Amino acid sequence: MPRQISPAGSDPTAIGEVSAPPFARLPDPSLLFARRAQRLAGLAEGHQLGAYLRFLAAVSNAQHHIQDGLPDPEAPDIDARERARSFGMPPLDRNKPAAAALSETLERLVIAASTIDKPEAATGALDRLKQAGPSERDGMVRNVLADAIPMEALAEHVYVAAALQVHFTRLAGCLDAAALVPVGDGACPVCGGPPVSSMIVGWHGAHGSRFCACSLCGTLWNYVRIKCTLCGSTKGIGYQEIEGGPGTVKAETCKACGCYVKILHQHKDPALDPVADDVATLGLDLLVREGGYRRGSFNPFLIGY
Ligand SMILES: [Zn+2]
Ligand SMILES: [Zn+2]
Repeated sequence: MPRQISPAGSDPTAIGEVSAPPFARLPDPSLLFARRAQRLAGLAEGHQLGAYLRFLAAVSNAQHHIQDGLPDPEAPDIDARERARSFGMPPLDRNKPAAAALSETLERLVIAASTIDKPEAATGALDRLKQAGPSERDGMVRNVLADAIPMEALAEHVYVAAALQVHFTRLAGCLDAAALVPVGDGACPVCGGPPVSSMIVGWHGAHGSRFCACSLCGTLWNYVRIKCTLCGSTKGIGYQEIEGGPGTVKAETCKACGCYVKILHQHKDPALDPVADDVATLGLDLLVREGGYRRGSFNPFLIGY
């Protein structure tokens, strides 16, 4: 039988290998931040943003270590999850972040961050955060969850975002991946957030499939290739990369919505991390923006650049 030739622009994963990717993969909070810390430390070597990447590596390390002995996060009960699912809504509600476990997580992160080497702006921000009362902290939590971090307080929000990542990753880790349903283009099926980047994975049984990554809860969700991860358009999709680079991180641009989101070829380099490698490829952002595209993804560690 002749090998089926796929029409131009169709999903290349359909050719050859049988691939049955799961719809979503939930994060393992006991591994995610430790691996990210390692990746950030590796990326920092000889990098223009080396000092900042080392700082983020230390923050990721803190995110890993503060989990030891933290009270369990209060996951939504089965009825609430079922209700959300029947309405095509994500099980975790970003509008109701208040939880005892979250304040404890933030408090622990603030304490852990005191001992790490950091840029001057990050030192001042940590002092301000230490002095902030519960309502001020709550306001910052809401800013991060609304993807609306004010430019004048970016550094404070880095710590708050880091604490929220720990909290939501632990919540996501309690869920059942098989019970998740798609909640719309550009939205995480667990928390409703936008993707930070997407990855072509090399996992056994899913080789060559693409997954979007959530910067908040760490969930990965399957998404067709050559399709805008934000607006769902399959027309006017292009790819850009830094000339002479390793070719493992590209920007997927969309003419329909005028935005771009990076795509990581993790099947070529398993160490690639959706958050760390997004920060470390800032040069690609500058290049793509010259072409008039806007950044459509959300990364709390890459705002203000
Ligand atoms: Zn999420
Ligand atoms: Zn689009």
